[in-house]
Amino acid sequence: MPIDRGVFTDRRRRASAILRARGLAALLLAPGSDLAYLAGYRMFGSERLTCLVVGADGTATLVVPELESPRARTIAPELDQRTWGETDDPYAVAASLVRDTGDVALSDQMWALFVLSLQRALPGRRTVLASGVTAELRMRKEPHEIEALRAVAAAADRAYARVVRGQFAGRREREVAADLAALLREEGHEEVAFTIVASGPNGASPHHETGERRVERGDAIVLDFGGTRGWYCSDITRTVHVGEPPAEVRGVHDTVRRAQEAAYAAAVEGATASSVDAAARGVIDDAGYAASFIHRLGHGIGLDGHEHPYLVAGNQQRLETGMAFSIEPGVYLSGRFGVRIEDIAVIGADGRAEPLNHADHALAIVG
Ligand code: ZN
Ligand code: ZN
Ligand code: ZN
Repeated sequence: MPIDRGVFTDRRRRASAILRARGLAALLLAPGSDLAYLAGYRMFGSERLTCLVVGADGTATLVVPELESPRARTIAPELDQRTWGETDDPYAVAASLVRDTGDVALSDQMWALFVLSLQRALPGRRTVLASGVTAELRMRKEPHEIEALRAVAAAADRAYARVVRGQFAGRREREVAADLAALLREEGHEEVAFTIVASGPNGASPHHETGERRVERGDAIVLDFGGTRGWYCSDITRTVHVGEPPAEVRGVHDTVRRAQEAAYAAAVEGATASSVDAAARGVIDDAGYAASFIHRLGHGIGLDGHEHPYLVAGNQQRLETGMAFSIEPGVYLSGRFGVRIEDIAVIGADGRAEPLNHADHALAIVG
C-alpha cells in the first residue's frame, strides 16, 4: 500500500465525482477491499460496524467503534472519524452522515446484518451495489498498483519454478500444497490465499479441494495458487505431468496453450471482455472440447483475487490501459484429468496485453 495518503484522498475525490454524476447520495463501505482502496484501512469483519461514508458532497467519514478508533487514527489520520461506544446505535451515526438526496451504494460484500440495519436506518432510500461506483476506479490500475501486481506475480513465478523441482509421485496432494504455501511465503508473499493441487481425475474439478489423494506416476496435476504481497493478489496456474505424458494429455495441453495465446492476441485496448473469452473458447471448440471449458476465461485482479472486469460471454466492458485480469482457459475431462494455464495480464500503454507471469508455459514433466 502506498505510504502517500494523498493517493486515498484523490481516490475519494474521484468516487464523490462519480456519485454526483450518477445522482447517488453516498457510498457506505464496510470492511473489505472497497474500504481499503478508498481509505488505505483494512479491518477484519466483526459484529461491530465499521463503515466509511463517502458523500456526493465530497465528505468522507469513518464510522468506527471506539475501541478501534486509535488504530484507525494512526493508519488514516486525515479521515474524519465518528466513533461510537458500546451502547450507541452505529447505524444512526452512519445514516446521519448521508446528507445528499438520492440512493445509497453499499459495498458488495457487506454482511446482511449491516445491510438490513442500514436500510432500516435510512428509510425511503433505495440501496444499490457500490461496485457500480468503485469498479470504475478499481478496474483502472494506477502505476504503483501495476508494480505491486508485477512484484507479487514474480514471487508466484519463483514459487512455481521451485515446486516443479520437488517430488510429486507418492506424496499426498495436501503435502505438495503445504510445500507450495511455504514457497509462496519464502518468495515474498505475506499471505497465502489458496493452493490447489488437483491430481489425476481430481484435475477435472476446476476448484478441487486439495486432499488426501496420493499423486501417482502418469497423473496430470493442476497447480493453481496465489496470495498477497502488499495487499495485492497473485493467481497462477500451471499443469504438470508425472513422468512422460501420453499424446492425449500433450494434445489437450497444447490446445489450452493455443487458447491462451489467442486470448492474449485478442486482449487489446477497446476489445470487449466478451470477445476475449470468445477468442480462447473458439480454439477449444475447434479442438472438439467445447463442452469441457466450463468456466469464464478470466477475472480482474487487484486488492481482491477476483474483481471486475470479468472475461465472460456477454460482458460488453471494453478493455482499457491499466486493466489487470487473469487469462485462464482450461479443459476438464470428467473422471480422467484436467488442464488449465493461467497468467495475470495487464493492458499496457501500447494497448496490448502484457503478461505479468513469466513461468514456463510448457507442460513440465515432474518426478
Ligand atoms: Zn478459479
Ligand atoms: Zn487461479
Ligand atoms: Zn484465477
